[in-house]
Amino acid sequence: MTSVTPFLVDLHCHLDLYPDFEGIVRESEAAGIKTLAVTTTPRAFPRNLELTRNTRHIRAALGLHPQLVADSANEIDRFAEFLPQTRYVGEVGLDASPPHRASFALQERVFTRVLDLCAEAGGKILSVHAVRASTPVLDLIEAKLSPGRGRVVLHWFTGSAEEARRAVELGCYFSVNGEMLRHPRHRSTVTTVIPVTRLLTETDGPFVRKEGQSIRPVDVSATVDDLAATLRAAPEKMREQIAQNLRTLLIGFEPPT
Ligand code: MN
Repeated sequence: MTSVTPFLVDLHCHLDLYPDFEGIVRESEAAGIKTLAVTTTPRAFPRNLELTRNTRHIRAALGLHPQLVADSANEIDRFAEFLPQTRYVGEVGLDASPPHRASFALQERVFTRVLDLCAEAGGKILSVHAVRASTPVLDLIEAKLSPGRGRVVLHWFTGSAEEARRAVELGCYFSVNGEMLRHPRHRSTVTTVIPVTRLLTETDGPFVRKEGQSIRPVDVSATVDDLAATLRAAPEKMREQIAQNLRTLLIGFEPPT
């Protein structure tokens, strides 16, 4: 009897920020890792689309990173223009950490517009950043993007258990990385609050580093193993679960044609 090894998932990686962008696209594709290439500005999207257009496993997401909104808010028009070219959106969201607090009101306006555009288009899948801003992010998602109009994956979620519970009720998924699992509080959110059916994995490379090197999509297997250990599951079962969760996220939610 043969068994098919389920695929690995890296639902949040900045492929275009590695020095070897083309090489890492080839590497992830060859390894068959379902990779979401998130971007930080609409300006970066066309090149990402071009490099991933003929790949089986990699998809390009259209983003406008909250940490760049102070300087790039005017790119929201380009975001609107490119949105019909992809069903994936990210990295978008809100960041109220000290270096970005000054632009918070502007970030809220931009993220509101992003959610309105996604709700209007329908069928989009969003990778969302929420740093020190989980409640305002969830408030906007609740107000603007019902689960029937778009699906949200909270990337590297660091909110409270109560906020995580609310996100689950709003239909959100969670992409978990190795750094997140290193923190006891976030680890406990994963074990006690987030249903196993809502878990996905990510690297957030190249920002997350391991042994002095930027983590790569092929390293996501370590996070699956870590997640398996955390949830006391067999690694291959965990891998199957994550693959199934991605299928449910994608197939259960066909984009309008
Ligand atoms: Mn990121």
